[in-house]
Amino acid sequence: MDYIKITLKPKKEESILRFHPWIFSGAIQKIQGNPKEGDIVEIYTSNNEYCGTGHYQIGSIAVRIFSFEKTIPNFIFWKNKIEKAYQLRLALGLAGCPENNTYRLVHGEGDSMPGLIVDIYDQTAVMQAHSVGMHTIRMELANAIIDVLGIQHVYYKSETTLPFKANLNPKDEYLTGKGAPIHGVTLSHPVNTAIENGLEFHVDWLKGQKTGFFTDQRDNRSLLEKYSNGRSVLNMFCYTGGFSFYAMRGGAKIVHSVDSSAKAIELTKQNVELNFPDDKRHEAYATDAFRYLEEMKEEYDLIILDPPAFAKHRDVLRNALQGYKKLNVKAFEKIKPGGILFTFSCSQAVSKEQFRLAVFSAAAISGRNVRILHQLSQPADHPVNIYHPEGEYLKGLVLYVE
Ligand code: SAH
Repeated sequence: MDYIKITLKPKKEESILRFHPWIFSGAIQKIQGNPKEGDIVEIYTSNNEYCGTGHYQIGSIAVRIFSFEKTIPNFIFWKNKIEKAYQLRLALGLAGCPENNTYRLVHGEGDSMPGLIVDIYDQTAVMQAHSVGMHTIRMELANAIIDVLGIQHVYYKSETTLPFKANLNPKDEYLTGKGAPIHGVTLSHPVNTAIENGLEFHVDWLKGQKTGFFTDQRDNRSLLEKYSNGRSVLNMFCYTGGFSFYAMRGGAKIVHSVDSSAKAIELTKQNVELNFPDDKRHEAYATDAFRYLEEMKEEYDLIILDPPAFAKHRDVLRNALQGYKKLNVKAFEKIKPGGILFTFSCSQAVSKEQFRLAVFSAAAISGRNVRILHQLSQPADHPVNIYHPEGEYLKGLVLYVE
């Protein structure tokens, strides 16, 4: 089969020969023909040597490579990729484990499927496309997931993740499996309870943020549990309350969850009821983080700061770093002596070093004696492709504050 051929400028093949999966538009010398967004294209060096096959898109990242070997990307090709991703999650002890029915099955470049995210919640896969190419083949992908995992529903949720300039108008909907529309009628929304390390969560992939739950903090929540005994905990930016339940199971004295979204606070309360009915140790507040930190008493000796990505792209990096600094200063100023701070950044544009520097500056401003106990990252079901270091997005520090 002949695909549209894209030839790179001289010397621009270096990164792709080192298996980096992105081709920037500035690296392109010549496009043969007139590819549509989402089309499959083949990349050639200026010396006419084949070097990869990927999805074409208009924008600064022009091609996302999904194969470095000549291939025909048909249903079997994608099913093999899903199978490989699933085998890794089995090897990690996540898939098929009764303590965890919630995990990331596909993490974009980390699973050699740039532009695709798939999270599993028990019998439902929630699929998110970030590229037009993945949007185009969504039915094939959904069928491959059903075939490989034998689960019941695939929900497609890409209204906010696809480039709006492409004018695709994607609908968030069940694509296949038992939740899919039959003769135009969608069966009722499957109610699933996610289980993570034995704790239960309501997941609302229809209305929730991202795919409904942040699976990327699983390991870090477990670590927090170990530090919680007898402590007064503030879970700032709690969303569905993830860190709070681990703190409660770990024996925390009190746990206060804070988020600016009233909906998130509602979810947090429901989840507390699910795991610890009538437990008076927990309270939840819908309010702004900076305001809460400003006005709160110095009553906490374990604080979690897990804000949303302050920098969604590089242009706003400076402001983002200021934001991290400001936030952490407040926590350093208010945390009790002997307190422990779990502080995170999930901005891809902020490097580990930059984040650490922002936290270091915050510590210096507060004048407290601070030691790093742990340096945290994302869990193994969010693998980082070694040739694509940009995939390492979650950074965290656990600090002991004297
Ligand atoms: N820690 C969570 C994930 C946090 S996501 C978990 O483990 O699942 C970031 C959260 O920050 C979102 O729920 C969002 O509603 C909240 N948020 C954003 N801006 C905020 C602000 N200024 N003050 C308080 N919460 C905020």
